[in-house]
Amino acid sequence: MSLSTADRLVTILGSGPAGLTAAIYAARANLKPLVFEGPQPGGQLTITTEVENFPGFEHGIMGPDLMDVMHKQCERFGVDFEYDEVVEVDFNGPPFIVKTRGKSWTTEALIIATGASARLIGLPSEKELMGYGVSACATCDGFFYRGKEVAVVGGGDTAMEEATYLTKHASKVTIIHRREQFRASKAMIQRAQENPKIEWKLNTTVDEVFGTREKGVHALKLRNLQTGVLEEFKVDGLFIAIGHEPNTKLFAGKLPMDESGYLLPTPGSTKLQIPGMYAAGDVADHTYRQAISAAGTGCMAAIDAERDLAARGIEA
Ligand code: FAD
Ligand code: NAP
Repeated sequence: MSLSTADRLVTILGSGPAGLTAAIYAARANLKPLVFEGPQPGGQLTITTEVENFPGFEHGIMGPDLMDVMHKQCERFGVDFEYDEVVEVDFNGPPFIVKTRGKSWTTEALIIATGASARLIGLPSEKELMGYGVSACATCDGFFYRGKEVAVVGGGDTAMEEATYLTKHASKVTIIHRREQFRASKAMIQRAQENPKIEWKLNTTVDEVFGTREKGVHALKLRNLQTGVLEEFKVDGLFIAIGHEPNTKLFAGKLPMDESGYLLPTPGSTKLQIPGMYAAGDVADHTYRQAISAAGTGCMAAIDAERDLAARGIEA
């Protein structure tokens, strides 16, 4: 075993379920990890309300509370946190150099858990009511709309898939799309078209979401782009399904990505193409994008890093 001269053995970018799970495992393996919290401390779950599908919470838990508990669990094992965003990584390692706007650190292993962000329309009312009648995740929140009427914005495969899924719970689902042509595949469109619970509003945009945090959403202001006519459209919930963007701008041209910008670890592991670098959570997951799958790959990344460090004969 040789002593490392780097500032850290393991550094983790991101404090969502993936980053914090990686931190718990790395800390318990005595690797003294450093976590960069980034622009959204706690990650995506901090902008939602009830999380009912994270195992271990029989009656569900509020998203921010879940992340708070994970943070406290990290603190208990001595994880160090930097409340800052990483703006540059020097990939000529290991050791790698990780930089914020004011400081830099060296690290033997780097776990990238920077997540993905749901694309939003950009309305203030959409932001205000996120988690209170507005959602970006049908799998997460569809259950809350049993017997209710909801709308889905988008014309791609995500919108078709979310709308079809929502018909399991909602009494009516209206797909609102700004054009008549769809990006979705023919098969997905056909499946939605054949579903008797799905209705369509094409050439239409959502200009405002009406509701309150206390009572949820009750209507949308819709604009018909062909006629300019405005309409108040009654719904109980709005699902935004206009795509996601993985937070990978920092790694463009440095690490292989798919056409949507998701990182591509070696299948069956979290290892990236540069030895000593790992990806966990939504940043490398186009398909599932769930808190539990993010936490699972966070665990995998810490174990991968621990074993690789041991194989390199490096200790704290
Ligand atoms: P994220 O949670 O996205 O965290 C990414 C982290 O990376 C953040 O802390 C951010 O600050 C940090 N970061 C980004 N860039 C940098 C940088 N340059 N430097 C340092 N740090 C950086 N899933 C469920 O299982 N159940 C649910 O009920 C559920 N509800 C949801 C509701 C909403 C409204 C949304 C948006 C998502 C929901 N999800 C739910 C999905 C779930 O939140 C994600 O799958 C999960 O948070 C992904 O975890 P992650 O750690 O990979 O990334
Ligand atoms: P996408 O294909 O980029 O489609 C996004 C849709 O949202 C488009 O219809 C777009 O409208 C609309 N949109 C974008 N910004 C908008 C805005 N500000 N206001 C209103 N509408 C807006 O994204 P995606 O549907 O998430 O799919 C991404 C990729 O994942 C695709 O390759 C898709 O095939 C894949 N995917 C596959 C499956 C599956 O096969 N099961 C499921 C989900 C996703 P315009 O068309 O007018 O631009």
